[in-house]
Amino acid sequence: MSLMADLLPCIVVAPVFQEESNIRDFVERLHKTISPGSELIIVDDGCTDQTVELLRHSAASIPRDELAIRLVTLSRNFGHQRAVIAGLEVAAKRARETTIDCISVIDADLQDRPEHIGDLLAAIENHDVAYAIRASRRESMMFRIGADIFYKALARWARSPVPPNAGTFSMMRTSVVDVMLDNVDENVFFPGLRAWVGFDQVSVPLDRDGRQHGESRVGLKGLIRLAVGALFGYSKLPLRLMMLFSAGSLALSALAVLTMTVLKLGGFVAVEGVPLLVVLIFFSLSVLAIFLTILAYMVSRNPSPVQTRALYVIAHEASLN
Ligand code: UDP
Ligand code: MG
Repeated sequence: MSLMADLLPCIVVAPVFQEESNIRDFVERLHKTISPGSELIIVDDGCTDQTVELLRHSAASIPRDELAIRLVTLSRNFGHQRAVIAGLEVAAKRARETTIDCISVIDADLQDRPEHIGDLLAAIENHDVAYAIRASRRESMMFRIGADIFYKALARWARSPVPPNAGTFSMMRTSVVDVMLDNVDENVFFPGLRAWVGFDQVSVPLDRDGRQHGESRVGLKGLIRLAVGALFGYSKLPLRLMMLFSAGSLALSALAVLTMTVLKLGGFVAVEGVPLLVVLIFFSLSVLAIFLTILAYMVSRNPSPVQTRALYVIAHEASLN
């Protein structure tokens, strides 16, 4: 982005897990495009390949005043979402120590183009948050259909409007990041949390590439876990479905009981034996289901007051140049 020289420096957070084939290109492309005085925070989410060695090597050739590179090492693999939050925690701390006010999150597999950071910086100028929405994406048909259903479901049912097709790639003011860090919970879903905090947000349509090298590190299992976590953490859909099913079955069985009573009292047919038993069991189970749903509603309004474990563990932090 040509305007870059006029733009302010920012702090860029990038989580990495087994990115030995992408890390050098990522750092190089970011270095080329970013304003001097910016910082890059790489979160090593338990890499066991050459990622960290290659990163150290790249960082050694970059002057610190052009791009300061910091490595945050987690004690093991905690997963993409938690690694993002760990990076944000360090970024917010760095923002307070410097005069930088904008913090960006980007994937290191080059699906998000580092050159687009300039577009996000330009967009955030009069706003609190600028987030990329995928103008186009080069991913498999299955993935696109899955992502489409997931985002539509979230947009329809989420308690906060999670914008469709908005992923991780974004730029936030430090004050917004502070609020996010204060409100993160067990179901970490970064785009959901970012939408939830509110403030003045603007979307920026940007093209998204395919992963440069290697397979998705999150994978299908990870995506499903994320989708379930997001639907439970940011929407009432599971509760609504529960209510719908139990109310439906209660209505049906009540109708059956009523019909049987009328038939018997009217002297038409007396329903007895197994059919009677089935209807009564069905009826009692529906009543139970309704009470269970009410209980679920009550529990969902009072999330666990004890957060016993941290979401991630930072083993160490070091400056690489
Ligand atoms: N990642 C991570 N921890 C993980 C999985 C992934 O830090 O357990 C990083 C990964 O290196 C990449 C980003 O998170 O920089 C997005 O991961 P991936 O490309 O696998 O996700 P996808 O694009 O498939 O959703
Ligand atoms: Mg990716």
